Amino acid sequence: MKYSKQYHHQPLGPQRILGNLGIMADERNQGPKVSIDMYVVCCYKCLKWRKIPTKQQFEVIRGRPEEDKWFCGRDPNAGRSCEQPADVIYDSSQIWLMDRHGIPPPPSKTERLEIIRGDLSKTDIYYVMPNGKRARSHGDVERFLKENPRYMDMLPLSSFSFTAPKIARETVEGSSRWRAAKADLRGKRSKQSSLGRVARAKSESSEDMDMSDSDYYCPSSSDGSE
Ligand SMILES: [Zn+2]
Repeated sequence: MKYSKQYHHQPLGPQRILGNLGIMADERNQGPKVSIDMYVVCCYKCLKWRKIPTKQQFEVIRGRPEEDKWFCGRDPNAGRSCEQPADVIYDSSQIWLMDRHGIPPPPSKTERLEIIRGDLSKTDIYYVMPNGKRARSHGDVERFLKENPRYMDMLPLSSFSFTAPKIARETVEGSSRWRAAKADLRGKRSKQSSLGRVARAKSESSEDMDMSDSDYYCPSSSDGSE
């Protein structure tokens, strides 16, 4: 449904950066799910994308507020500097997911999973709870805590966020997988009434539009072309 909205590629400039966290996925594995295989962050000084070696390190960086800007030399032990060439360039050779700041690192004994749907339409967030079951919403977490009250203090509800990273549309448009899913969607839509389409367009132009795909790009990482 997301893709029914018009896509306008905005010229890139510093004012467009609302986020600087990227997750990259590789769709070459032809399974039903697309796996995430790289975590990257954009330096606010040199505007280059840097690989973050582990998911755990990425989660710590992502947990910081947006004002707490990340830069290459921030971790002196990592041996990074703004002088080094970018680790990765933003382009459509891989699928990019743009993440948000302020998502708390998952509490201990839990794991946060980002699962990209096979049709590349969206990402689903799950927490693997201490009993091995997956929570898909705050309601699921509440249910778990009710059944396992001993975790109540360890796993506050506020430490769970189901906010999913946004798939950068221009990095999936060339994918055969995405095209197939879109063609399928178009077929379904043509059977729906025009009223339904108007209603959908309206809901998409609300809040969600403020975080449109192009808001997230690290300027130097894209050529800014259509
Ligand atoms: Zn830098």
